Amino acid sequence: MIRILSYNEMNRADIFQRSTVPTGVEDTVSRIIQQVKEQKDSALLDYCTQFDGGAPERLEVSEEEIRQAFESTDPQFIKVLKKASDNITSFHSCQIRNSFIQNKSSGIVVGQKIVPLDRVGLYVPGGTAAYPSSVLMNCIPAKIAGVKEIIMVTPGKNGTVPPAILSAAKIAGVHRIFKVGGAQAVAALAYGTETIPKVDKIVGPGNAFVAEAKKQVFGSVDIDMIAGPSEILIIADQSCQAGQVAADMLSQAEHDKMASAVLVTDSPRLAESVRSELERQLSVLPREEIARSSIENNGKIIVAPNLETAIDIANEIAPEHLELCVDNPFDYLDRIRHAGSVFLGKNCPEALGDYMAGPNHTLPTSGTARFSSPLSVDDFVKKYQYTYYTKAALSAAADDIIYFAEQEGLSAHARSVSVRLAEDLEDGKDGM
Ligand code: NAD
Repeated sequence: MIRILSYNEMNRADIFQRSTVPTGVEDTVSRIIQQVKEQKDSALLDYCTQFDGGAPERLEVSEEEIRQAFESTDPQFIKVLKKASDNITSFHSCQIRNSFIQNKSSGIVVGQKIVPLDRVGLYVPGGTAAYPSSVLMNCIPAKIAGVKEIIMVTPGKNGTVPPAILSAAKIAGVHRIFKVGGAQAVAALAYGTETIPKVDKIVGPGNAFVAEAKKQVFGSVDIDMIAGPSEILIIADQSCQAGQVAADMLSQAEHDKMASAVLVTDSPRLAESVRSELERQLSVLPREEIARSSIENNGKIIVAPNLETAIDIANEIAPEHLELCVDNPFDYLDRIRHAGSVFLGKNCPEALGDYMAGPNHTLPTSGTARFSSPLSVDDFVKKYQYTYYTKAALSAAADDIIYFAEQEGLSAHARSVSVRLAEDLEDGKDGM
């Protein structure tokens, strides 16, 4: 049964306590990465046998497999995937940034170019459930950014990938797909194997092995974030229906035993009703075992003195998903500082954001919303800057640069400027 805690009486540490990564993951992952570095495809095939029920004949999904998967997927689901894809595309198109150029007077030009990454790897989880939504959420921003090659990896259960995953990949525009998951897939993307090309960045959620692997390969490649278990924090006032609040909590809890669902309310009566509802709904949930473990070990209901305190608690916890189930939610929006994605009002279950609304569902977890952001087009571009000076402009700036360099004791820096001016004097040239 979920715990009900009074904010005024509870231990501060209890408010911020999160589930911890199981021990042994770090060592296991570092062994797997080493194996993949040394034995490449052959290590991948061994791990497919060990973890995913069997090695596929070929690691890469063929065009024919994608075609067959698309044809075997329920047309109704294809329609829904396309609708979701349109909404995600529309939202993420607003994130495109522009390069800029400053034409300064007196022969100076400076600027910044936005450049898409050449090749990225998308991790699409598939151990205990299939997530076509993750395919759309990870691929579409990369497409919009203009990434040249998008490589997807996902566990192939018994050597096959669920048709819905392949259909989503076709709709989103993934270029190549490989049937491999876990830390070994991350290692393959980071270092390359005979069949899987090395990428520049790896994005996408996954379990503790995947998250740890991304952490360990960071530096050889970029990563989007180290995703922890899913989280939801719901702020609900006394006018909310307990059945709706409980359903939203379970929508996170069913992801993973380590997921956490927290309710903060100013109503002790709602707290009690939600506790009863959780028990009632858990007993009929197909993923009851996972959800019950999450609710009982990581879930809690906090009774706060008022909604203002509830918002302070949310800002401190910085949850991945935050639902504001209150009247006039926009009145509170400006007070929210730290959350991955905010769902406003009583008609906005977090599941809207998982699938259809358009904003991304790959979000900062474990309190990292204090300093990081949802996956976006920004993750798939990088910037470089450029500078152009005419000789006259360099001459005008020379004294300042030489003085600055001397203050730092870097005489070669100073000389790289003075030598140009000296050359001008020797050559009898000036200006351009
Ligand atoms: P997964 O694809 O992340 O992991 C499956 C792989 O884990 C297996 O193929 C195997 O290689 C590896 N593995 C399993 N047990 C292992 C062991 N003992 N040793 C070494 N490797 C092992 O799929 P999953 O397990 O279903 O986890 C998916 C996770 O992604 C869940 O936590 C879910 O909540 C999360 N998720 C998050 C989002 C999001 O946007 N935040 C979306 C979808 C899923």
